[in-house]
Amino acid sequence: MKHFIISGILLAGTLASCGGADGTEDVENTDEVKDSIVYTPLQTDQIEKFADLQILQYDIPGFYQLTLDQKKLVYYLYEAGLSGRDMIWDQNYRHNLEIRNALEHIAANYSGDTSDANWEKFMTYTNRVWFSNGIHHHYSMDKFVPDFSREYFDGLLSETGAELNSEVVDRMFDNTADMKRVSLDGSKDLILGSATNFYGENVTEEDVNNFYAERMEAAGDHPVEFGLNSRLVKDEDGTVREEIWKADGMYSEAITEVVKWLKLAQGVAENDEQGKALGLLVEYYETGDLEKWSQFNITWSQATEGDIDYIQGFVEVYGDPVGMRGSYESIIQITDFDASERMAVLAENVQYFEDNSSIMDEHKKEKVVGVSYKVVNVAGEAGDATPSTPIGVNLPNSNWIRAEHGSKSVSLGNIVMAYSNAGGEGILREFANDEDEIERTIKYGEIGSKMHTAMHEVIGHASGQINEGVGTPKETLKNYSSTLEEARADLVALYFLLDEKLVELGLIETTDVGRTEYDDYIRNGMMVQMRRLEPGADIEEAHMRNRQLVASWAFERGQEENVIERIERDGKSYYEIHDYDKLRVIFGELLREIQRIKSEGDYEAGKNLVENYGVKVDTELHQQVLDRSSALNIAPYNGFVNPILTPVMDEDGNITDILLSQPESFKAQMLYYSENYGFLSH
Ligand code: ZN
Repeated sequence: MKHFIISGILLAGTLASCGGADGTEDVENTDEVKDSIVYTPLQTDQIEKFADLQILQYDIPGFYQLTLDQKKLVYYLYEAGLSGRDMIWDQNYRHNLEIRNALEHIAANYSGDTSDANWEKFMTYTNRVWFSNGIHHHYSMDKFVPDFSREYFDGLLSETGAELNSEVVDRMFDNTADMKRVSLDGSKDLILGSATNFYGENVTEEDVNNFYAERMEAAGDHPVEFGLNSRLVKDEDGTVREEIWKADGMYSEAITEVVKWLKLAQGVAENDEQGKALGLLVEYYETGDLEKWSQFNITWSQATEGDIDYIQGFVEVYGDPVGMRGSYESIIQITDFDASERMAVLAENVQYFEDNSSIMDEHKKEKVVGVSYKVVNVAGEAGDATPSTPIGVNLPNSNWIRAEHGSKSVSLGNIVMAYSNAGGEGILREFANDEDEIERTIKYGEIGSKMHTAMHEVIGHASGQINEGVGTPKETLKNYSSTLEEARADLVALYFLLDEKLVELGLIETTDVGRTEYDDYIRNGMMVQMRRLEPGADIEEAHMRNRQLVASWAFERGQEENVIERIERDGKSYYEIHDYDKLRVIFGELLREIQRIKSEGDYEAGKNLVENYGVKVDTELHQQVLDRSSALNIAPYNGFVNPILTPVMDEDGNITDILLSQPESFKAQMLYYSENYGFLSH
């Protein structure tokens, strides 16, 4: 499974099993990304925008802390990933590579007027094709037809000497054919209705069912992921068969390169398990044997030591209308050392937080154990994982392997951070009440947000116990259990963010970090997060419900003493916190009550809290938030360029170091990739 965001809208399920205190629940949650505003590097002029898209950069924190062998491992995996890049283009649509070749030839050789409106339209189209790894929108799956004319395009082709079969050009401009890459319209044959290249001409759903029915039947309890690594085609005589993606099969030229780099990676593996997994992956690519893929996944799931990890292969099946065939992708990951350090310090002191919590003594755990949570930093992505990238991944996908051998769930820390940065200072300046708040947020916003997340995960979900004889929260609190669990974890974090203990532990310099996070939390819970909602909609998502619940309950509770004030100025609303210590007490009270609800399984009280504070939005304020946000002109879809890894060699050709840099532009990176990794297109 993968999880990603559109303009701050979280799209799919969980990443970390943001779970319950006692291991009795398996709360399926969305991740912890919020509309919180964190401000660092990217200047607005560094963000490239076109159509509904914008391109961001990410850093690789921790890269220079790696040993030389670890850097080599990252580099080899990164090269392996890119070597397979052309596969995703071909998988997405049968003409994508030819079209890309022509567009790139024109983009590189055009010598006419670049301020010409038609040329701008051409480059927008080309950028969109690069962004989607093909001519269908990466998210809506709809084909985008050029805004410039067929005549203009034919002119560009002949001017630059680019070649493209005229039938393919017809397809590009045709408003009726191959319109949807993946169709989920069940009233028609899903495969015939989809333009994906996972199936050959005339293959139908029925063909697929017939082809796999017996194999699946015979597979028993431990089936392979049938169809994952092949294209299914129908010969003229009606025979249906698989074209397998392997070293001596379909995509041979690309896979051979992938294998070459994976072998080098295996040679510098950090430990035996990791090396064994890489070896199995190589065998799988060489043979195309899906049993090897299962064995690889088992070994990979258990290879948890080491600082480097990776996703590599035909993995997710969202690109197949019948959900069998895997899109090629690669993600290289490095442990987030800072986040791990923060989590370790919190985990060592978890008993302090339990003992000093505002919850009733009878609900405290005598011996509390911190929840472990994995944050990694991405060091390179390829295939389906880029330019549009997930923010978290939970693999393997095979259910029986997950159940019997475990799975890995990671949050992609530097990507999450880059997304937060994408809003830039714009959102902060629009919604913060005064200059002090803005300045302090610029200074402490990032660490405040990271501390909140770490505390939420490690001590928040770990805290508290359920009374004897009371069922699990899922049983007692039912559909409100997720929201209440998230609120409880947030409140533990908020309550302790103003505790001097954090300074004493060396986690933060000053409790101003906590005050910054309070500002952010109230601003977000009362206003900013509503920019994710359609007009007239209720809040459905558990984290969003919890944030509004906590913020609006605290606002109401503190009204008499003016703890938080709502200010109206020039037709705009702002929230200003006047008494942070009092707000901490209020957060403590709500924490105590929500813990009581969970410990006693008090459904009615839980339901009232969520329904009264977390679900309905103030429609006037919501409209105001939408208007103020849209004026900021933030593109709905974000994608990324990858940092460049450059090896430094000595005279004998041995790698002595690897250096990082950022590409000059999105266009430069895309042209470079096609030039150097175009194994199926040249
Ligand atoms: Zn959580």
